[in-house]
Amino acid sequence: MKGFAMLGLNKVGWIEKPTPAITAMDALVKPLAVSPCTSDVHTVWEGAIGDRHDLILGHEAVAEVVEVGSLVKDFKPGDKVIIPAITPYWETVESQMGYHQHSGGMLLGWQFSNVRDGVFGEYFQVIQADGNLALLPDNVTVEEGVMLSDMVPTGFHGADNAEVAYGETVAVIGIGPVGLMAVAGANLRGAARIFAVGSRELCQKVSKLYGATDLINYKKGDVVGQIKEATHGKPVDKVIIAGGTMEAFEWALKLVRPAGIISNINYLGSGEYFKVNRVDWGLGMGHIKIVGGLMPGGRKNMEYLSNLLKYKKLDVSHLLTHRFKGFGHIEEGLLLMKDKPKELIKPVVTI
Ligand code: NAD
Ligand code: ZN
Repeated sequence: MKGFAMLGLNKVGWIEKPTPAITAMDALVKPLAVSPCTSDVHTVWEGAIGDRHDLILGHEAVAEVVEVGSLVKDFKPGDKVIIPAITPYWETVESQMGYHQHSGGMLLGWQFSNVRDGVFGEYFQVIQADGNLALLPDNVTVEEGVMLSDMVPTGFHGADNAEVAYGETVAVIGIGPVGLMAVAGANLRGAARIFAVGSRELCQKVSKLYGATDLINYKKGDVVGQIKEATHGKPVDKVIIAGGTMEAFEWALKLVRPAGIISNINYLGSGEYFKVNRVDWGLGMGHIKIVGGLMPGGRKNMEYLSNLLKYKKLDVSHLLTHRFKGFGHIEEGLLLMKDKPKELIKPVVTI
């Protein structure tokens, strides 16, 4: 079969590989829609997870089941399924501790295009199909469904880890597709005031559709100063970091209240350290939490998040700015994600 792969650092291309073999609990699926991700860009062009050779890229897909192993109970060939970006082994100690994202070791619940071939192949293997697949609701398109693989769960994870509550004020730094879903997640959790920090006009406009109340352009002045001016000097309750550099942590510490939470979902692909200012962190006694998380995957999360689309509580179509038809366009989609033209939020390739 054919696949679009990372050939080595800074190098991508089409390769031929054998169709993967499945075990008794797995499914073999073929993609119906895929979406290239900023994380694919970090992987190839920033070496964020180290060097990889001939590794098929991609971790966001809606697919059709082609074959299932003998122990798979709930899925059959022909089913249309949502593929979460995180597909862990569910029996490990880490999974039992509630962190399936790290099943088997740090970040190893992230299988696709990390430790096994990703979804940009003509076929791919999903381990533990009953635990990792979810049926795509009938009234959700494959293009919308693919936003459930990573964009929705990651943005919502940012809001969940920030423990956003009714009436709170939240700042979201970075409003690409992930940050936009963090805005939507904070909004659904009841935030009253949401600062969306970004510079691109389209993303700003879309952030309003998802519940942002205040737009802050980081290219037009100091972010902390602009937000503090709008709040008359008061701190915000929570900060979600979904873009930018490690400097964002310094801003967040200056913005957040005592016992507030800074929730990072940004992939820190370069640099070594971020600074924690002693005074901003309450001299070490401010009860300010800094948490960073990989999105939760697995079947239950996909089923519950897809309900939001099914029952029209969340409209992901605003994210879909570039649509391609045909497997061959995956490369184009990925290069768009790398170049980030200002009219881009998310490309989707239907197959
Ligand atoms: P994106 O590049 O489209 O969006 C990030 C945005 O931040 C861009 O619009 C960029 O212009 C903006 N930005 C740059 N500097 C900024 C600054 N100083 N202040 C504010 N905004 C700034 O990326 P995305 O697809 O939305 O993904 C966001 C991050 O989330 C990426 O690093 C991605 O790899 C990561 N990610 C994490 C997970 C997870 O599980 N935690 C999953 C998927 C993606
Ligand atoms: Zn992704």
